[in-house]
Amino acid sequence: MRPDVLESLVSLAKRRGFIFQSSEIYGGTGSVWDYGPLGVELKNNVKARWWNAMVREREDVEGLDAAILMHPRVWEASGHVSGFSDPLVDCKACKARFRADKLADAQCARKPSKKPGEHSDCQLTEPRQFNLMFKTFMGPVEDSAAVVYLRPETAQGIFVNFLNVQQATRQKVPFGIAQIGKAFRNEITPGNFTFRTREFEQMEMQYFVEPGTDMEHFERWKQARLDWHLGLGLDRDRLEFHQHTEKELAHYARAAFDINFDFGGTLGFQEIEGVHNRSDFDLSQHQQFSSKKLEYVDQAANKRYLPYVIETSVGADRVTLAILVNALREEAVPGEQEGRTVLGFHPVLAPIKAGIFPLTKKDGQPEMAERLAAALRRRFNVFYDEAGAIGRRYRRQDEAGTPFGITIDGDSTANDDVTIRFRDDMGQIRVSTDRVVDVLTRYLEADHPRAEARLVG
Ligand code: ATP
Repeated sequence: MRPDVLESLVSLAKRRGFIFQSSEIYGGTGSVWDYGPLGVELKNNVKARWWNAMVREREDVEGLDAAILMHPRVWEASGHVSGFSDPLVDCKACKARFRADKLADAQCARKPSKKPGEHSDCQLTEPRQFNLMFKTFMGPVEDSAAVVYLRPETAQGIFVNFLNVQQATRQKVPFGIAQIGKAFRNEITPGNFTFRTREFEQMEMQYFVEPGTDMEHFERWKQARLDWHLGLGLDRDRLEFHQHTEKELAHYARAAFDINFDFGGTLGFQEIEGVHNRSDFDLSQHQQFSSKKLEYVDQAANKRYLPYVIETSVGADRVTLAILVNALREEAVPGEQEGRTVLGFHPVLAPIKAGIFPLTKKDGQPEMAERLAAALRRRFNVFYDEAGAIGRRYRRQDEAGTPFGITIDGDSTANDDVTIRFRDDMGQIRVSTDRVVDVLTRYLEADHPRAEARLVG
């Protein structure tokens, strides 16, 4: 079992400004989190990487940003009103609530810690279905006619816009629609930091294909999505596919695989992304409930049909948590008493790309460093720091996951060159100032930056 790093991650995340508890000064809101200055950069980089891979680099996928509030009939058609629920059990003795299907993983709040049902006076009720959708009211009247839901997934915004997008872009099947956006689920047992929260962001893509070609597209997307996670730097042996069993598979689904990541500790391998073959279930439901034809007309072949959908659905917060867990390491430093904490992000994900450090506050070093920082800022998020011992400044950036440290010393002002220090192996190279942008760019564009570590020297 890999060590459980979540606890040390929660404190590092707060200390360094990655993630704070929501409304902390009021005692916090249950399982809702805010991203601080470093966290928002990290999550934005994850989302940008996904958007580039799914939309910008492909001709067959279009982007969309649909609204969170949708017509209430959408959720009847999708099956969420009747079926988006988890089985809930109450404990009448301690008033806690648990998911009936996750009792084995749950912990009773009372001491000594035991699983629900294991204390002699536990009184668990029979499971009942609890709908996970948040309800609110549209307009000034709070009655049942005005009920709307906060979307529990982004996918339905894509299904109802399928023909709008297809006709506006003149895409031909097979093609996809992708979007990133907030989703809300009133989870019974949220927890494990940002792993399961009540407000989160999804990155979803629905790929519309001709029936009969669906499994071939499914296999392709399954592999493409695993490759994307590997490209983020997640370790291969922390990733696995989990095929849905007959019992897990939704009645309309033809196949489903989760991509699981090993979060360590008792959490272990858990889903970060789902890849599903949803047949024509969604479009046919919306066609029926809206009474609007949603068929695709294939003019060349002179036929019309409801496409099948291959869906890839990944949580932006959950994958960001996986990246943090994967990146965190504590290590000894040769020749030093104190070790260091490192967040070894892929440079492209790192919130800050380079720290810029004049060795001393004199001899024109700060001025040269400020000039370099200003030039780099146009391209990269960089951090200028002239305070304290250089070793301490490096350590602070190691902990923030900054891949490069650029130091301006006594020789720099004379020779117009700088030292670039690499976060991962602490090796250093000397480059002329006008090459710094090139060197950084090479690393940021590398697929496997560690393997290329010395190529650019
Ligand atoms: P789970 O079994 O963990 O509840 P799910 O199978 O219901 O997840 P999907 O509906 O397939 O999840 O959602 C796709 C992705 O959205 C998940 O792989 C996960 O990354 C993310 N996600 C779902 N629910 C949450 C949540 N409550 N908090 C954070 N991310 C979530």
